Amino acid sequence: MTLETEVCVIGAGLSGLALATELRAEGRDVTVLEARDRVGGRVLSKDGHDLGPSWIWPQNRRMLALVDRLGLRSFPQYATGRLVFEDAGGAIRRDLEFATMGGALRVEGGLARITDALAGEMGDSLHLARPVRRVTQDGTGVTVSTEGDTILAAYVVLALPPRLAAGLGVAVSDVPTWMAGHAKLVATYPAAFWREEGLNGDAISHRGPLAEIHDASPVDAATGALFGFARPGAARQPGFRDAAIEQLARLFGPGAGTPEKVIIKDWSTDPATATHADRTLLAGHPAYRTMSPAGRLIFAGTEVSPEDGGFLEGTLYAAEAAHASLGAVAD
Ligand SMILES: Cc1cc2nc3c(=O)[nH]c(=O)nc-3n(C[C@H](O)[C@H](O)[C@H](O)COP(=O)(O)OP(=O)(O)OC[C@H]3O[C@@H](n4cnc5c(N)ncnc54)[C@H](O)[C@@H]3O)c2cc1C
Repeated sequence: MTLETEVCVIGAGLSGLALATELRAEGRDVTVLEARDRVGGRVLSKDGHDLGPSWIWPQNRRMLALVDRLGLRSFPQYATGRLVFEDAGGAIRRDLEFATMGGALRVEGGLARITDALAGEMGDSLHLARPVRRVTQDGTGVTVSTEGDTILAAYVVLALPPRLAAGLGVAVSDVPTWMAGHAKLVATYPAAFWREEGLNGDAISHRGPLAEIHDASPVDAATGALFGFARPGAARQPGFRDAAIEQLARLFGPGAGTPEKVIIKDWSTDPATATHADRTLLAGHPAYRTMSPAGRLIFAGTEVSPEDGGFLEGTLYAAEAAHASLGAVAD
């Protein structure tokens, strides 16, 4: 199939969807191509549990406005009580009155409710399971090739990590993809039993495959959930699941050793997010910068946001900037 469109957005993560829904609302001719059979990209919730990002913050004005516009609700990360600390030798302290993520906000039902809602505004302009393989431009337009289709676009927005854009033949500087090397494990329980013991669900551990753990229970705490960030590379090791559950039991008591359900998402092995280079641990948060349009190619995605780059808020900043660039190049 050959399709003609004014703007082709590659990637239906939050950045691509935020931009595409704006363009569509303005009556622009926009086509979104998404590699996966779902929207959201790094935003992924299963049964309401967030396997990618969990938090937004009160200063994230764009995110809070979007949550509001979509009729969704945020609620505070549970932060009442003490954290658990385990040192490398296995000594455990449970007397520290501290919540590492106090003040952060979650979204009821999971963050994917945001990207699902945006996808619902896209109608037939959104095409899932269409991995783009190649992007080439000449003076008159851009040719986007998927497995079986060719899309001829006046402009293309690359709303995906720059490392993945490079794989499409786009000349782009190397920029690490935020959190792409990480993995999350969620364990669910009939109740958030640690709360009754005065624990807030936070743990910092220097022993075992999970480096830090947080309460991930739903807003009404009708059931309980804990999630842990795996130490880099740990989720790729055999026995990860069992070692992680054993660690949860060590930190939160025997009840944590018999979860109802365990969900693991290793982003480092997902080619729609990570490249091999993303397995190298980042020394800190990269200083993400704007990428100027290259002819008819415009960059979006959180990795090109100079404000809150890497974070959800940065996806919306980058979408706004791409929108402005589209206006400028189209004039
Ligand atoms: C484990 C984890 C925890 C995180 N925690 C937080 C947090 O608490 N708070 C926060 O603010 N941020 C957090 N982040 C970061 C946050 O998830 C990202 O900032 C945000 O989701 C990036 O959105 P994006 O649209 O820029 O990119 P992406 O979500 O990566 O979207 C890119 C899209 O492009 C698609 N794609 C890739 N290749 C192709 C191709 N060839 N053709 C077509 N489509 C393609 C992908 O499938 C994807 O849908 C976390 C991330 C992870 C992984």
